[in-house]
Amino acid sequence: MGTTPEARYTPYTLGNMDAIPQLSRLSERRRLAMRAVAHVLPFRTNRYVVDELIDWDNVPDDPMFQLTFPQPGMLEPSDLAHVMTLLREGAARADIRGVADRIRLKLNPHPAGQLEQNVPDLDGEPLPGLQHKYRETLLFFPGRGQTCHAYCTYCFRWAQFVGMEGLKFSQRETETFHEYLRRHTEVSDVLFTGGDPMVMRAWHLRAYIEPLLGEGFEHIRHIRIGTKSLGFHPYKFVTDPDADEMMRLFEDVAKAGKHLAFMAHFTHPRELETPIVQRAIERIRATGAVIRSQAPVVRHVNDSADTWADMWRRQVALGVIPYYMFVERDTGPKSYFELPLARTHAIYRDAFRQVSGLARTVRGPSMSATPGKVLVLGTQKVHGEKVFVLTFLRGRDRDWVGRPFFARYDERATWLDDLQPAFGERRFFFEQVPEDEAPRGRSSGSGLRAVSEPQRA
Ligand SMILES: *Cc1c(COP(=O)(O)O)cnc(C)c1O
Repeated sequence: MGTTPEARYTPYTLGNMDAIPQLSRLSERRRLAMRAVAHVLPFRTNRYVVDELIDWDNVPDDPMFQLTFPQPGMLEPSDLAHVMTLLREGAARADIRGVADRIRLKLNPHPAGQLEQNVPDLDGEPLPGLQHKYRETLLFFPGRGQTCHAYCTYCFRWAQFVGMEGLKFSQRETETFHEYLRRHTEVSDVLFTGGDPMVMRAWHLRAYIEPLLGEGFEHIRHIRIGTKSLGFHPYKFVTDPDADEMMRLFEDVAKAGKHLAFMAHFTHPRELETPIVQRAIERIRATGAVIRSQAPVVRHVNDSADTWADMWRRQVALGVIPYYMFVERDTGPKSYFELPLARTHAIYRDAFRQVSGLARTVRGPSMSATPGKVLVLGTQKVHGEKVFVLTFLRGRDRDWVGRPFFARYDERATWLDDLQPAFGERRFFFEQVPEDEAPRGRSSGSGLRAVSEPQRA
């Protein structure tokens, strides 16, 4: 296949947003609002997304448009109006930036201390590009993978894309990454994340992965790559200049007897419909890699059971294994995208009931919170009290996993922090802080927050 102009990766950002011909369909006011939001929250998309995934006859409601373009509702009306006024008046960049920074600080830029937490060290030297929360899984944020082929409007890592969150990288990143893994024989899974590690060239990714296939790394069984590239730039695996080289790297992982788990972020079934993504999936699978899928449930984008059932069915048909359904995190433009836990669970359940057992490999809805990954199993009435039944899929303490626990039903709760223990209990079983030191209640800080970090503004 030759590289057609459509196949070439062509990004659109705030700087060249006006070069997107389809935007002329929108009103002047709407475009100004979009630009205003893009001054606060990161915006990046590309020609494939614009031309192949968005149904412009259905804009602004189109889910792929909602997924990739700034929406006026993502900022509070007064903040949006403020930035729009500055733009209209032709304010200086520095003035706009000052206002944007103040708005960003209100948007909980550091949910659950994402990057500062669980940073391991090598002989006392911290390794900020690594995160080691669960014993057998090491997260690695390669310095060259700190962007994406397009940004999702709901992204929980938005702060790092607007330069708020200085992820520091070691000068000797590759070396320290390998040395850490060599010493930590309890690690079986390495998860490349970002940003999107798949923005890297094949030679670069090889420099990280290849040593793991050789001597000294027998304990590393699974190499995972968390990526949105299949959804946003599938040409990467088919017509990009190093597509074949990338496939050879994946094959080499399989040949070394390791499992390459391609953790694909698919948000909407439309991302699975184009011939190019189907070809990309076929090529990746032909290397022996296994593609698993995960995404959050988000309002305006995929908040319907039929959408999820359709997506899981298409995935199974294409050989992609549904893995996780997440709860949208409590950061950034969450008030625009978030859904009550009760609603998120209803979507999961209704979708799950519709699909073949082969698609029921998916677990959710799951919250990646400070104490661990908490799964909403459902709602129930126990001795007259309506409750949420929850459990840990992963816990800071391994002993927490798989023990059902109960929270008072709250139709408005959107995150773990909003929940209170059921049955008059003073705290959840995993909260060790004595009650008198941590008064409960959302306004005064809950006992849960005493073992976690402040998560809500
Ligand atoms: C989800 C997650 C993992 C991987 O968990 P699995 O259940 O094995 O997919 C590893 N580290 C962190 C910090 C996570 O949030």
